[in-house]
Amino acid sequence: MLPEEIKKFIEEFEKLPSIGPRQATRLAFRLIGGGQAKLAEMANAVSGLKKVKICPRCFFVHSQKTDVCSICAESTRANDVFMVIEKETDLMSIERTKKYRGKYLVLGELTKSGVLEPWQKLRLNALKKIITDEMSDKMAKEIIIALNPTTYGDLNASLIEKELKNYSHKMSRLGRGIPTGGEIEFADEETLSHSLTRRE
Ligand SMILES: [Zn+2]
Repeated sequence: MLPEEIKKFIEEFEKLPSIGPRQATRLAFRLIGGGQAKLAEMANAVSGLKKVKICPRCFFVHSQKTDVCSICAESTRANDVFMVIEKETDLMSIERTKKYRGKYLVLGELTKSGVLEPWQKLRLNALKKIITDEMSDKMAKEIIIALNPTTYGDLNASLIEKELKNYSHKMSRLGRGIPTGGEIEFADEETLSHSLTRRE
């Protein structure tokens, strides 16, 4: 009953988080109803995402001409202090406080089981390699684990701490100031700044 083009659209969009076949179908009709110009704009926005690159050092997104992102390339940031975070949006929240001047490792969305995915282990290995290759004593000055203070966040934090403790002189955790069950992404700047300066 539906044209092939719409079927193809639904097939792709229903795979996205929180969009099912019904929402994808509705979305298709809404977009078609918006007219050709709107459709072209939307297609351009989606196609533009193809140019976004993932930094091979911190795994944050960027569209620089270089391989690495602008945070990793910034020479005024400490290159022996690393913050391990879950989501890109967490990094953005931390950056907004302007209180952190080290580097990052974006781990990607954690599972509720407290087990790291194979690709997340590869990201941890990338950090270990940076530390052993670039630090004169093969140890970072500090690694801050900044995961959300939820049950699975704590579980993963302990796991990551174990993985990285031989690679850093100091291990610390952020999030003590953030209420239990709260999220870094949604904490206000003052709360975040506070938990940054009082990390333990
Ligand atoms: Zn980077």
